[in-house]
Formats: sequence, structure tokens, C-alpha cells
Amino acid sequence: MKVVKFGGSSLASGHQLEKVLDIVVSDPSRKIVVVSAPGKRFGHDTKVTDLLISCAKAYLHKGETPDILDKIIERYSSIANEIGLSEEIIQQIKSDLISLLNGDKKNPDRYIDAIKASGEDNNAKLIAAFFRHKGIEATYMNPKDAGLFVTDEPGYTQVLPDSYTNLYQLRNIPGVVVFPGFFGYNEAGEVITFSRSGSDITGSILANGTKADLYENFTDVDAVFSVNPTIVDQPKEITELTYREMRELSYAGFNVFHDEALIPAFRAGIPVNIKNTNNPSAPGTKIVSQRQLTNGPVVGIANDNGFCSIYISKYLMNKEIGFGRKVLQILEDYGLTYEHIPSGIDDITIILKQDQMDEQTEIAISERLKNELSVDEVLIEHNLALIMVVGEAMRHNVGTTARASRALSEAKVNIEMINQGCSEVSMMFAVKEAQEKQSVKALYEEFFSKVPAY
Ligand code: ASP
Repeated sequence: MKVVKFGGSSLASGHQLEKVLDIVVSDPSRKIVVVSAPGKRFGHDTKVTDLLISCAKAYLHKGETPDILDKIIERYSSIANEIGLSEEIIQQIKSDLISLLNGDKKNPDRYIDAIKASGEDNNAKLIAAFFRHKGIEATYMNPKDAGLFVTDEPGYTQVLPDSYTNLYQLRNIPGVVVFPGFFGYNEAGEVITFSRSGSDITGSILANGTKADLYENFTDVDAVFSVNPTIVDQPKEITELTYREMRELSYAGFNVFHDEALIPAFRAGIPVNIKNTNNPSAPGTKIVSQRQLTNGPVVGIANDNGFCSIYISKYLMNKEIGFGRKVLQILEDYGLTYEHIPSGIDDITIILKQDQMDEQTEIAISERLKNELSVDEVLIEHNLALIMVVGEAMRHNVGTTARASRALSEAKVNIEMINQGCSEVSMMFAVKEAQEKQSVKALYEEFFSKVPAY
């Protein structure tokens, strides 16, 4: 049994829905279909979710916004027209949306969440109706009825463990089950959404709960690329990678699959297959627990920018009990998350996303480090890019770091920092943002275009 998730671009028009139908009926094991809200039909189009957010905010602040509401209804109505569904379903969607917009505004986050989630909810109803119209047994399933319960954190909720047990019963429903992605219900029975692109997470939770054999995630690319395709032209596609490799590659360029969505599938050992709705016969990319390490040491190179580093040095830091904890406590006090912490005998560097901190926070953190921890030096460096060179096979290969740093030095890149944990699944290079692209190109050239020198 497979859980199949279709993203917004796969559901953006009636023409796309015909493809979805063909994919589902071509394999009877595709039983549970998780759907996003209608996405973009073309480059400058607006996703229904974004229209819903604007609409909710306008209602919160001004009280009404007929033009955005009309645009949303128009999106569903043009899909329904294309696939031959009657006006009745559009009237249902319209009255559902109007009653949500006129709903309780006491808690703005919950209000917005309920409206945001209606994008997937109404789309699931429409798609189930379309399948039935085509003679396929299909049931719309509401997440509350299925028992998908989540924490009370609007916009970034997490699944509650009991949900997995509840969801197993979905297997007993005859025919195809159409399930809206992106949200669950809190214990008080209110709609709460995952973070953006969270339908991937719903699919993974359902795959885990129903003990599916495979989680197929249909999107609009043939496969996951080995490097950011906006930097390297027509890069190699990855046919197979492990959960750990996918996780390490979660920086920019690899966002075809939500990083939180790996966890439920990984815990249940369910492979994930990323596939293309517009080219379903392409094998796509498989994410698995273990793979044959046949294709050289590196499976992919990810990059991202907008990072800064806080360099802290203190003589005899290595002998001071609790030093690291106290540093991290200061970051926690400012609500900051970090990405990496390379360290030396007398120093520690914390790399974090720089948009979390304004100038005042930076000054305050420096002061506290100096006053409370008596550090010798604090240095904050901005505009760093991180490049992750990822591959499980690095562990068994000698000289991968040497190859990477030689490639960077030949490209005249000044490496600001290197970090490799003992898991040896990835190597991180920090470089100045201005040298990010040339670094990625040089590393790609070294590991994917050259004949290996070992
Ligand atoms: N429609 C939601 C979004 O745009 C969730 C999703 O598509 O997965 O973020």
C-alpha cells in the first residue's frame, strides 16, 4: 500500500488533475492520496495558500476584501469547469470560506490557520468529487475524523504520537482516500497548520501511521538534483540517497521536500520516492535507510547564505566546566537557533542565520559574553555562505577533504571555516557570500565532472 502526495503545482489546474487521476488509477496500491491547495500555474501566479493568507489578514484588519475572495473562488471554479464538475461544489467551497472568514477573530494566529488550511481541505473535497465523477470509489477524509492530532502551535505545529495509532484505520476505508495535507487538530478541536509546504509532513505521518510500503511524493521535477540548478546548469540527478544525506542537504536548492517530513517516514523505515506528476514514468529520487555506496564519495552539494558567525575565544576554555552551556544559554535567552559549532582548544564559533539578530542583539550578546563569561575576544562576522558536501561514502574514501579544499583553493576561494563531524556524512565549508557560487561550481566540477583521482 502506498501513500501518494501531490504538491500544489500538480493540482493547479483541471489539466493537472487529469494527470493526477491517471497516476492514481494506474497503480491500485496508491490508496491514500494527500493533497496540497492549488499552487502556481505559471511563474508569476499566486498560490491559493498565499491568497488565503492575504484574505485572512485583510479581514482581520479591514473587515472585508471581496477582490481576493473572488480570486480564490475563481481558482476553484476554473478547475471545476475544466474537469466537468457542477457549480454545486463551488457554492459549498464559497460558503465554507465565507463562514470561516466571519468566524472568531479573538486569536489571530488560529483564525489565519483555519483559513490557510481551507485551501487543502476544500481541494481534497473537490478532488474526491472529481474521482467519483470519473467512476472511482473515493472518500474525502477530514483529519479530525481520522485522528490526526497536533500540538497547539499555529503555523508550526507538530504531530502528537497517538495520531499514528489512530491513522491505521484509514487502511480499512474502501477505495481511494483523499486526505487534505498541511493541518491537523489540537486537543480543543481547532485547526492548526504545519509550517509552509507542510503537506509533505502530512503524507509522511500518514505513511507511518498506516504502515505503508512506500511514500510517493509527486512534485514538478524529475528528481532531486545533486547541486542547486540555479548555479550549475543541468546538474546530475540523484537516483537514491539516504535519509541522513537528504537531511544534510536540506539547505537551499534541495527544498523539493520539506525537511521535517523525513522524520515520520524515517522512524518507520518507509522509503520516500520523489516523482514528477508531469513525467510519472521517470524513476525519480528514492530516499532510503541504506543504499549501495557505488557512485563516488559525494552524493550532493548544498549551499545557502545569510549566515553569520560568533567567534568566542577564552584562554583555557577547554578546562572550564560548563562554558559551552553558558554560551548556549545566552543564545537561548535571545531565542536564537544555531546551525554548526566548530570549536578549538581555546575557542568556539557559532554559526547561525543572521536574520535572527539585529545590531542591538549582537551588541547585547557580546557584552554578556564579556561580562558574564569573561571571554578574551568576541568577533561577529557577517555575510557568510555555507556549502555542504554530502555523501555517506566519504567515510570509506580517503582524501575527500583534500580534494574539496584543493578544488576551492584552485578556484581562489578563501575558506573561512571547515567542519566535519565524526559521522563523516558531510563536510561544511563556510566562505564569504561573494565567493559562494564559484565555490559550489568548483566543488561540483571536482566531484561530479572529473574522473575520480583515487
Ligand atoms: N499549501 C501549503 C503551502 O503553500 C502547504 C503545502 O502546499 O504543502 O505552504
